[in-house]
Amino acid sequence: MRIAVVGTGYVGLVTGTCFAEVGIDVTCIDIDQKKIENLKNGILPIYEPGLEEMVVRNAQKERLSFSTDLGTSIQGSDVAFIAVGTPPGEDGSADLKYVLAVARAIGQNMTDYIVVVTKSTVPVGTAKKVREAIEQELEARGVNIAFDVASNPEFLKEGAAIDDFLKPDRIVVGVSSKRAEEVMSKLYKPFLMNGHPLIFMDIPSAEMTKYAANAMLATKISFMNDIANLCEIMGADVNMVRKGIGSDARIGNKFIYPGIGYGGSCFPKDVKALIKTAHENGYDMRVLKSVEEVNENQKSVLFNKINNHFNGDLAGKTFAIWGLSFKPKTDDMREAPSLVIIEKLLAKGAKVRAYDPVAMKEASHTLGDTIEYGKDEYETLIDADALLLVTEWPEFRSPNFTVVSKLLKEKVIFDGRNIYDAADMQDKGFTYYGIGLKQQV
Ligand code: NAD
Repeated sequence: MRIAVVGTGYVGLVTGTCFAEVGIDVTCIDIDQKKIENLKNGILPIYEPGLEEMVVRNAQKERLSFSTDLGTSIQGSDVAFIAVGTPPGEDGSADLKYVLAVARAIGQNMTDYIVVVTKSTVPVGTAKKVREAIEQELEARGVNIAFDVASNPEFLKEGAAIDDFLKPDRIVVGVSSKRAEEVMSKLYKPFLMNGHPLIFMDIPSAEMTKYAANAMLATKISFMNDIANLCEIMGADVNMVRKGIGSDARIGNKFIYPGIGYGGSCFPKDVKALIKTAHENGYDMRVLKSVEEVNENQKSVLFNKINNHFNGDLAGKTFAIWGLSFKPKTDDMREAPSLVIIEKLLAKGAKVRAYDPVAMKEASHTLGDTIEYGKDEYETLIDADALLLVTEWPEFRSPNFTVVSKLLKEKVIFDGRNIYDAADMQDKGFTYYGIGLKQQV
């Protein structure tokens, strides 16, 4: 089979590379010439564990190529995936201009039957718009070429994207014709070896599934953050509560960790877009509105603890921050809670010295030289007034606390992810703040 993947970001690059890995002939297309030139030289635009090696190997085997030329690339392809961004517009709705631009370009260039698949996260009804955009272009060309549209939302997690793609919990595909179903079945057959289900459904249901999944996950996070905040007020320990409820199989122990709010390119925008879709169609998503409100509030929780500890006097103080990306194992800084915390600290006249294993370059695009960047986690601590644990990278889990206490000016840790043990920290002589914990010592 031959496929084209349009949009070579986090999703498109992983999708294209994983299809190449199972022997499919893949062209990854992007409008960003520099990105494509770099990829041709084995330089990746993003950090994703294991991806670089896979890209280089599949490119060498000539199963994976990169191009800015959509026209030539889709000719002879069985499937064209649309994997471009769908950022939130001014009003919170998903901005479809990139998706529809690609649809038009496909319509302008296709020569044979092709299945056009939206992999981008798009609201219900988008496949219809994609179909209309292609039809208009075919009509303008005066040609009649059969095609199908399908919806194949992506559920990969940044940081674990390759595994998620190669061994998915499930693959969801929305189709409206038997022909498209057959093409998509053939394409995904290599990924079904371990019994992972390939679930076919109608297109609107597939489009909705992605939003419902992200909205549910965001809800779990905000719910636990709300519980954590109440635990603090009531003298309960959210770590205990989490274990207590997580052992109920109906609840489960995944995704119930409190923290400093969800970020990233997906949850914030998808929650907003679903609220907006509902509103436009006369329905009020009351739960999700609260999920969003709780999340906004949660991004300030760590800062509020810092501000209280220092009695509001942060001017001239230096704060060491461990972790900048919105979650570990990625360099993605989109909607990262670290940005909110840093902005608040800087506004109070504090200085910030941060270290992140991979996201500092990406962070510097937004933060520039408003903060200092450490060469490792320990360097950030030198004469700092406190340590803020913001992203739970594995290497921050068990640092040398003797060194930490020697380097810090004041032995205070604000742990936004509850990765340290409060009693242990107390024993080691730190003043330790977590999220939703019983003792704020
Ligand atoms: P991204 O910003 O990393 O990549 C998008 C790419 O599309 C960019 O390289 C951009 O240059 C390119 N592009 C834009 N317009 C183009 C055009 N007309 N032709 C060719 N290329 C074009 O975005 P992403 O994080 O990969 O997300 C893509 C979509 O997948 C979004 O809808 C997102 O919601 C969804 N999604 C993302 C994730 C994730 O973890 N990042 C997971 C699941 C779904």
